[in-house]
Amino acid sequence: MSLNFDNSYFRDLPGFYAPANPSAATDPELVVWNGTLAERLGLAELEDGAAELISGFRLPGGADPIAQAYSGHQFGHFSPQLGDGRAILLGEHITPNGARFDLQLKGSGRTAFSRGGDGRYALGPALREHLVSEAMAALGIETTRSLGVALSGEQVARQTLQPGAVLARIAKSHIRVGTFQFFAAHLGPDHVKRLADHAIARHYPAAAGAANPYLALFEAVMEAQLRLVASWIHVGFVHGVMNTDNVAISGETIDFGPCAFLDAYSAKAVFSSIDENGRYAFGNQPVIGRWNLTQLGSALASVVAEVNPQEVETMNALLAGYGERYLGVWLNGVRAKLGLARALAGDLDLANRLFAAMEGQGVDYTNLFRNLARSLTAGLEVVTGMFTNREEIGIWLDDWNARIANDEAMLPEARAAAMNAVNPLYIPRNHKVEAALSAAVEGDLAPYFRLLEVVTNPYVERPEWADYAMPAPAGSQPCVTFCGT
Ligand code: AMP
Ligand code: MG
Repeated sequence: MSLNFDNSYFRDLPGFYAPANPSAATDPELVVWNGTLAERLGLAELEDGAAELISGFRLPGGADPIAQAYSGHQFGHFSPQLGDGRAILLGEHITPNGARFDLQLKGSGRTAFSRGGDGRYALGPALREHLVSEAMAALGIETTRSLGVALSGEQVARQTLQPGAVLARIAKSHIRVGTFQFFAAHLGPDHVKRLADHAIARHYPAAAGAANPYLALFEAVMEAQLRLVASWIHVGFVHGVMNTDNVAISGETIDFGPCAFLDAYSAKAVFSSIDENGRYAFGNQPVIGRWNLTQLGSALASVVAEVNPQEVETMNALLAGYGERYLGVWLNGVRAKLGLARALAGDLDLANRLFAAMEGQGVDYTNLFRNLARSLTAGLEVVTGMFTNREEIGIWLDDWNARIANDEAMLPEARAAAMNAVNPLYIPRNHKVEAALSAAVEGDLAPYFRLLEVVTNPYVERPEWADYAMPAPAGSQPCVTFCGT
């Protein structure tokens, strides 16, 4: 089966986008094709013409190429006019199972919203997005996916000239908090309502039957977002640029510009070169999630009020309850990470004390949880040995073991296996990602493909992959990531 387009955004929302045509590719060449995803989408047969499809060199039949308009709060400041500056939505593909996915090209050339930008994507960042989004999917985290990356045949000017590339992105939709902000700021409640009706039909159909569908939409997005942020925290993911234009209404992770995974744990960890004040630091992400939802609330307020003016207050009350809801979801995930099958009073304190004990100790976040599982059969030293201050973690380990004694009875091996099924061993370690991307840009893709295989199989240990589970060698440069590259 090939692309089966049904372009509801294009059809139902004229005035919410600008027509756009891919223009970046002159001599496309396939770099990576996501055969597994293509199969799942019913698109396996597109592999033959993949370079032309992904690069936008040839438009598939049924496409209605557009650039979507949006605004966004960037680092807390409102930018009224953003929009797809280097991305073009080809349309919505309906899979053989009836699921609907956007097919968007990123890096396919300038659009009406490009401002001063060139509309292009360099090979390194495109491969990085492919790798990290596929790693996230393998970790069971809601995310946009990559169908593949193709070289455009052009060079793009960054700090140096780089090979230009285009990535084909798959998403439940590309509707963002910033999309709502755009129509609230420029065109008013009528447009916000039309966008909200579209988003409800597409993502949260149950909200349509609620007394106030727009309030129900808000609550559903809030729930999806807080679950998403909790899932990032569980694996040590730092998104890096949680601007409201990078927050998808569907609850998928989107925009893999300056993202990174924690090496040593710190709530204050920041990787992005431009995040000077740590707004998007690892431990600040839940708070920023709430801040972003507050902006969605402001954009939706007029349509919520049209149904029932009192329910703007209900929205505020929902926001006030965000913290508690978030903590509940987060704690459930931490219980699983700690091998706890029951929920008992005192678990929140136990979880918080582990994170407090890790702060400032240079403890590798990923390996800590794998070593906790190991310690059940190999002894506590595999964990205490990771710390310089062994006293605090020693007390914590005793408390954790006492807590396990009150949990459902389970053989230590079985509990360790349950922990290893939720605590990844292989994540895209920053030094590995950098090395693989540097080699790829120089024309050697072997390290990239190997890393891709490792991070898309994150849980089961393989001796030949030992090197991928190791922290960066001592004395290596701290990782710095960049936006908009
Ligand atoms: P991002 O930091 O990737 O979320 O991008 C923020 C905004 O800048 C979005 O509206 C992008 O479309 C736009 N943008 C980023 N890079 C480029 C580029 N090379 N050309 C045109 N627009 C861009
Ligand atoms: Mg973005």
